[in-house]
Amino acid sequence: MIQLTTATAIENAINKARTVKPRVRVNCFGSYTVTNKTTGATYSVECLKQDGKRFAHCSCEAGKRGRACYHLAAAVAAHIQLATEQASH
Ligand SMILES: [Zn+2]
Repeated sequence: MIQLTTATAIENAINKARTVKPRVRVNCFGSYTVTNKTTGATYSVECLKQDGKRFAHCSCEAGKRGRACYHLAAAVAAHIQLATEQASH
């Protein structure tokens, strides 16, 4: 589980996500399945809010060690977009 503070903290992961372009499927708000289209590997990413702080977790090896992986970055980007859309309704 990593805390999402600023975008720069996961900037490297975001850049990698832009290169790899994994597919992000929304299971429900806050729960995502990220697929690497090349390898077919899928990972679960959860986004949640606790005490006003945002956290995210990915099921891959890097994610288990608390590192920001590109799966997490891709899911967080989708999550923010969803949150923005919900707020505008
Ligand atoms: Zn991951």
